[in-house]
Amino acid sequence: MLNKPIIDRINRPLHDLRISVTDRCNLRCEYCMPSEIFGPDYQFLCKDQLLSFNEIERLAKLFVELGVKKIRLTGGEPLLRQNITDLIKKLININGLSDIGLTTNGIFLPKIAKELYKTGLRRLNISMDALNDDIFKRMNGRGVSSKAVLKGINIAQELGFQIKVNMVVQKGINDQEIIPMAEYFREKGITLRFIEFMDVGNTNGWNYEKVKTKKDIYQLLSGHFDLEPVESTYYGEVAKRYKYSDKNAEIGFITSVSESFCSSCTRARMSADGMLYTCLFANKGFDLKTLLRNGLDDAAIREELISIWNHRHDQYSDQRISNHVDKRQKIEMSYIGG
Ligand code: SF4
Repeated sequence: MLNKPIIDRINRPLHDLRISVTDRCNLRCEYCMPSEIFGPDYQFLCKDQLLSFNEIERLAKLFVELGVKKIRLTGGEPLLRQNITDLIKKLININGLSDIGLTTNGIFLPKIAKELYKTGLRRLNISMDALNDDIFKRMNGRGVSSKAVLKGINIAQELGFQIKVNMVVQKGINDQEIIPMAEYFREKGITLRFIEFMDVGNTNGWNYEKVKTKKDIYQLLSGHFDLEPVESTYYGEVAKRYKYSDKNAEIGFITSVSESFCSSCTRARMSADGMLYTCLFANKGFDLKTLLRNGLDDAAIREELISIWNHRHDQYSDQRISNHVDKRQKIEMSYIGG
C-alpha cells in the first residue's frame, strides 16, 4: 500500500475501479447497445482478447495498492461471463478492498443469485427502465418482460442482497414510469436511482431535448411523496440522495447532465480487453493487457498506472455544461459498462 494516495492533475484521488468483464449483452437497449449497430454480424471480443481472471485479479491488486477501495463489475452483462463467481471469489479476498458490487440487468439472477451470494458478494445494481411491460419490452430491444427482472430482484432481495435499481429516464420514452417505479420500489424498501440520459458513446441518439433532469423528476416526485435530503456519506459519492419521510426507502439522482460532479470523480474504468479509461466519455484508453502479456513486472505496471492517473484531467460533464465539449469519438457504454 502506498503511504500517500495518488492524485490526478486536479487533485482527485483514485478510489473506484469499474471492471467490465464482457462486451456482450442479452438485451439491446437503444441507449446502450442499439440493435441496428449490434446486430448478428457485430464482432464482439473473442475469448483471447478478454483479460483472464488471473490477469484481472493481478491488475485489481495493483489498483488497490494505489488507493482503490471499491470495485464494481460491469459489462455488457457481466453474468454472461462464464464462471463469473470464480472471479468474484478472487477479488473479494484482496486485502485492502472494502467494497465490491456488480451491475446487471437482472435477468439471470433467478439462476445464479444463490451462487453469487455464496461468494460473499452483497451489493447489486440492477438496471430497469420501466415496470410497464410494453414500454420495457420496447426499450430492451429483445421483447423481454419486466416480470423477468422483477423475479430476479425478488430472489436477490430474499437472499439478502443490498439492491439499487437504476432507471435511465428519457423524455417521451419512459418518463411516465417515474411514479409507478417510485411507488413500487418504495413499497419494497429498495433504493431507486434516476439516471439522467447521457451522451455516452456515439450511437445512442442523445440530445438534450430527451433529458429529463433531476429538477424535473424531483418536482414530479415531490407532488406524490414527502422527501428529505440525505447527506452524502463519502467523498465522491455520485448519487444525490433523498429518503421518504414515512418509509424506510431512498431514491437517488445521477445528475451527470444537469449538475455534473467531475470535480470529485475518483473512478477509473477498465474494459474487458484490458483498456484503462479515466473517464466515461474518453476517446482514448491505455492498453494494460499488452503490458501484462509483454511480461512487465508488478513494479513497472504500478509505475505506469501512477503515471496515467497523475496525467488525468478529464472533466467532460463539466465541459458539457459550459458548452466546451469537443466532437470526439467516444467509447461505447456497452464496452465500458456505464
Ligand atoms: S465526465 Fe468523466 S470525469 Fe466527469 S464525472 Fe463523468 S467520468 Fe468522471
